[in-house]
Amino acid sequence: MNIHEYQAKELLRKFGVAVPSGQVAYTVDEAVQAANELGGPIWVVKSQIHAGGRGAGRFKDGDPDKGGVRVSKSVEDVRENAKAMLGATLVTKQTGPEGKEVSRLYIEDGCDIARELYLSLLLDRATSQVTIMASTEGGMEIEEVAEEHPDKIIRVTVDPATGISGFHCRRIAFALGLEGAQVKSCTQFLTAMYNAFTQLDASMVEVNPLVVTGSGEVIALDAKMNFDDNALFRHKDIAGMRDETEEDPMELEATKHELNYIKLTGSIGCMVNGAGLAMATMDIIKLKGGDPANFLDVGGGATKERVTKAFKIILSDPNVEGILVNIFGGIMRCDVIAEGVVAASREVNLHVPLVVRLEGTNVEQGKKIMAESGLPIISADNLEDAAEKVVAAVKEAN
Ligand code: ADP
Ligand code: MG
Repeated sequence: MNIHEYQAKELLRKFGVAVPSGQVAYTVDEAVQAANELGGPIWVVKSQIHAGGRGAGRFKDGDPDKGGVRVSKSVEDVRENAKAMLGATLVTKQTGPEGKEVSRLYIEDGCDIARELYLSLLLDRATSQVTIMASTEGGMEIEEVAEEHPDKIIRVTVDPATGISGFHCRRIAFALGLEGAQVKSCTQFLTAMYNAFTQLDASMVEVNPLVVTGSGEVIALDAKMNFDDNALFRHKDIAGMRDETEEDPMELEATKHELNYIKLTGSIGCMVNGAGLAMATMDIIKLKGGDPANFLDVGGGATKERVTKAFKIILSDPNVEGILVNIFGGIMRCDVIAEGVVAASREVNLHVPLVVRLEGTNVEQGKKIMAESGLPIISADNLEDAAEKVVAAVKEAN
């Protein structure tokens, strides 16, 4: 799960991570009030969307010289910027051309920036350790730095069994060219950040830029946090920060029905029970020259209601030109699944070719139910057969 910058800063602040003062605003009046309370003399008005590159982004039909992060030198300035940004659509490198509507702003104290650095923490699954990445090339996109100057990114891994120590922090501080009191400020910052990362079950924290201020303070000017969904049950406060307007509506709908759905860009919708089988199904579709439109694991209890919901979600994707249902009936009986598929196809008025591969308990009864339904369901005998049939059916329909 992702959260907004202002929410990430609120969480980090509680752990003692240095961040500028700021307040969220949903309206122009709230933005003005926040500016008055912060006191200035310089404020930064920041669009809150779940995408980076806001500073360099531009608003649709907006001022071509102004982005989604604006330094403001008076309360009047804050008001004008808030007015221009709220309700407008911001397009950045990460939003895609359709952009994202800004409905929240963060009004933050202006910071005296001496240097812009880069810092991130992530869980490295390969080593089962926390990797801290840092670079002197802050403010820029790290992907570009990684490609053009890979030597400018340093990585320090921290074993979660022993936690972060002074020597990890000093290695990073020296690599970032920090000196004197800045090293101490950096050590405090990193220790607080590491504690926040592990205690909040984050999977990623990115601070770009990490700033050294004119007075030598190390402070987070931007903050992006991702969390492990499987640990959200023990962080109700973070779960409450979910902004549903920022999420893919179909994925959100699927979550509500306990379906594991991830939208992809191909044309063949997949409905499978079990994540491993779903992965194998997508692979074989690719192998046979097709492209999966989604990952969808209906889980163990593929009841008629869930199958219907899954069909609806798959079909709401306008790119879907054919569906492959691949179910292994173990605990779940194939005849029950067949009934679900037939009922769901009728209910949603299925208008694209449907290939069904069933295997397992009561498979013969299941196939019979589909054959006798009068629906144009294409039955397949195995995974390879199913993939070939759905790819062929989609080609034929085009
Ligand atoms: P994004 O990465 O989405 O563009 P950032 O929060 O990194 O958004 O802001 C972009 C740039 O704006 C930063 O690199 C920094 O130069 C400037 N900036 C952001 N917040 C402040 C602030 N509080 N004070 C001064 N400058 C800021
Ligand atoms: Mg940034």
